[in-house]
Amino acid sequence: MTDNKKNDAIKQLRINTLTKLFALLYLYKCPMCGYDLMKNLRRALQRNINPEQIYPFLRKLEESGLAKVIRVEARDKKVYTLTEKGRETVERLLNRFSDLIQVAISPKVNVCASCGVKIIGEGYKEEIDGEILTFCCKHCARHYKEERLKFKSRK
Ligand SMILES: [Zn+2]
Repeated sequence: MTDNKKNDAIKQLRINTLTKLFALLYLYKCPMCGYDLMKNLRRALQRNINPEQIYPFLRKLEESGLAKVIRVEARDKKVYTLTEKGRETVERLLNRFSDLIQVAISPKVNVCASCGVKIIGEGYKEEIDGEILTFCCKHCARHYKEERLKFKSRK
């Protein structure tokens, strides 16, 4: 499967609520029936979860091949588990979230305006043509100014 198709599977699921995301995470941890899922979600999210938020979603997971029923217990309790495809999808979702979290918590990283290396800390700042630019070192700043002059004289 191509990456695009995999992303489509995620899009089609419309993981647009915490309820759906947590439902997937619980199923990722262990097989569960809709009722237990609902109980866990209520506890985790501290809010009321309706069967209508759970059962249609489970059916959708099943239809798209991300989950399957592994056994049916008394009173028609269907126990769901994620398929291989479902587990991959959850892993992709988690990667995506960890990227977002990474961006949110990591301090702003400066990049040298001349050579492009990442700068830890303040770096070397210099005002050039009224703009304060950050470089990794003063040599890069000098190089940048030289290049800029060359570019200007060509015009
Ligand atoms: Zn540099």
